[in-house]
Amino acid sequence: QLLWILSIGTIVCGISCTKTEKPAADAIEKIISEMSLEEKVGQMTNLTLATIANEVDSTVVVDTAKLNDVILKHHVGSIQNVLTHAYTLNEWHSIIEPIQKLTLEKTRHKIPFLYCIDAVHGANYVYGATIFPHNIGLAATRNRTLVKEAGAITAVQTRAAGIRYNFAPVLDVGRNQLWSRFGETFGEDTYIATEMGLASIRGFEGGDVSSPLHVAACMKHFIGYSVPQNGKDRAPAYIPEIILREHFLPSFKAAVNEGTHTLMVNSGEINGTPVHASKYLLTDVLRTELGFKGVVITDWLDILKLKERHQVAETHKDAVYLAVTAGIDMCIVPFDFSFTDDLIALVKEGRISEERINESVRRILQLKKDLGLFEHPYLEEQAVKAFSDQAYSNTALQLARESVTLLKNENGILPLTDKQKILVTGPFANTLSELHGAWSYSWQGNIERLYPDTLNTIAEVFKKETPATSIFDLSAWTKSNGWNKGALIKAARAADVLVVCAGEAAYAETPGNIPDLAFDSVQVEVIKELSKTGKPIVLVLLEGRPRIIREIEPYCNAVVLAYWPGAQGAQAIYDVLYGRYNPSGKLPFTYPRYSGTLLTYDHKLLDEAVEIVEPYQYFYEFNPQYAFGYGLSYTTFSYSALKISSDTLVANDSLTVSITVTNTGKLDGQEVVELYSRDLVASITPSVKRLRRFEKIALHAGESKTVDFVLTKADLAFVGQDLKTVTEQGAFEISIQKQKTTIYYK
Ligand code: BGC
Repeated sequence: QLLWILSIGTIVCGISCTKTEKPAADAIEKIISEMSLEEKVGQMTNLTLATIANEVDSTVVVDTAKLNDVILKHHVGSIQNVLTHAYTLNEWHSIIEPIQKLTLEKTRHKIPFLYCIDAVHGANYVYGATIFPHNIGLAATRNRTLVKEAGAITAVQTRAAGIRYNFAPVLDVGRNQLWSRFGETFGEDTYIATEMGLASIRGFEGGDVSSPLHVAACMKHFIGYSVPQNGKDRAPAYIPEIILREHFLPSFKAAVNEGTHTLMVNSGEINGTPVHASKYLLTDVLRTELGFKGVVITDWLDILKLKERHQVAETHKDAVYLAVTAGIDMCIVPFDFSFTDDLIALVKEGRISEERINESVRRILQLKKDLGLFEHPYLEEQAVKAFSDQAYSNTALQLARESVTLLKNENGILPLTDKQKILVTGPFANTLSELHGAWSYSWQGNIERLYPDTLNTIAEVFKKETPATSIFDLSAWTKSNGWNKGALIKAARAADVLVVCAGEAAYAETPGNIPDLAFDSVQVEVIKELSKTGKPIVLVLLEGRPRIIREIEPYCNAVVLAYWPGAQGAQAIYDVLYGRYNPSGKLPFTYPRYSGTLLTYDHKLLDEAVEIVEPYQYFYEFNPQYAFGYGLSYTTFSYSALKISSDTLVANDSLTVSITVTNTGKLDGQEVVELYSRDLVASITPSVKRLRRFEKIALHAGESKTVDFVLTKADLAFVGQDLKTVTEQGAFEISIQKQKTTIYYK
């Protein structure tokens, strides 16, 4: 029916309209006018796969009775993951196709249903898909092009499964390192989060989500989710609005301007108001101020939590009232019809108008229309054909290599040589879970048996690449059984270098809550014992957030941070350790020295910086383990000839800052050139510096390149006391590495 309306509309439009959206909008209005209240509310309801399918012997089987109840009786318009784990393409098709068939053949308006999934570092719930590093590692690459490519591959492989809506990317800025989802963020810097978030979105959506090779993206989690006061997932946050606007709004604002189709709400609360009940944030800021026109989806169970956890609603019905009034369009319920029933009742009682319901349904139908679901509701062969490509794992490998961040390399212990005997050990030397981290074949990513056999652990890559010189006694130290002192020390004595794979066991969301950032005490003890053998130690860190290494760092000759590098992570680590790839990863956060001293690089001026003489005033020592932006290479780079096209920026003009970078070492390498600004006098205390631009360049040994950065007044701006963004007149210091200059804004 809709198809018919659409084609008639197109013919009519050809004669009388200029915009092609018009007939689609008319068709949507026509459907809405014919829908019952129950059908409309069904479109706003999102249930989990568990409500329509059963898992039998690890395969999923759609339950026809349940499916009929969900689709035909309750008119549900979307379903999301997940039962317990990943499926093959065929399994996904056998789940999704019958739901679509039933919907299209047996419902009145034939509005296609929409399947949604968390494909957060590749299509991590699809067997055979390419798994990339998590966002924290992607941020370390500073490589926008490859991050976009990863998004595009994720889109193809998600779409090949028959899924068109991806709950990604995380645009929350990671400014609390305790938070168990820190590894899902692009780190602590607002500009990097914005740039990398945009690159991902461009990859996912590709400018046209109706293409069989793209998916709708979801900016999440709006807003302020990443800084729970006590560091625990979904715990309350207290964020002054000036900070909310300075650090947390820009990534969302940029993504809205990019045309991103959907947005997910923060599960937590800010300043005492759960975001799901905040009309100010969801309507005034998001819709009115930012102009977002897409679909706003709740997070998991969050309307219920307005009553159960936040206690801002006496009944579930009041909770639904609050959330819908605040501005949500679709609710991840996810298990029952409580949202559906209460919303219908609220409209019948006159507490919520049917026009308000229509607004949400309009946006949801528009999303389905944009996704091409009305025209092509079933699986598209083009996506299935594009599912496998050797180039995809090359992209994953290159991203993993570029993410690996070399933090220490004493006496050039790295790269290793083929002549050295290497003991590969540590609790994570032979696990896939810790290479992948959260959201990998299961929610927690920690079910080892669910990982495909084709993937390699670090030990397996060493076995394959250097069989003659690798030493293994993998049972001497394992994740599940701990260490066997005698066996491990014996193996260490037989080696020239010890590669210790340590860090954090995999986790996701709330189960990843920790009381502090302390390193695992057993790992600390074993590393100290190993150092007594006198053999050099290379510490390979697998972790989603920085764990404190102050105590063990002196015992390690090299420290290699791999984050959660994904399916090609083991190979990437091997390639970096042996110098097959010259490391270029840069920290996207400040690596703290103490669990109790967490400060981002862009903090306000500290006592040490102004040389206050009284010793008791040295309250704020900023002495992280490794600075934001840090990361070593096997070659060296020098920076020279910082030039500005003018020292004065006037009104809406721009000026160019250029710098020459030379590879002064003997190896080819990649370098990230970062430009910072510092406001010298401002109406509020300025940050010591803010990252304003970065560019990644490749330089052959001996080669020089000049990089130009064009700056406008927006690059010198901040959010003032009146909550407005302003660039104040005066002097600004611009720095690139140790090169500095001063410019003036007039
Ligand atoms: C997470 C979201 C995710 C959602 C749907 C929630 O627990 O907070 O990030 O998209 O589940 O799976």
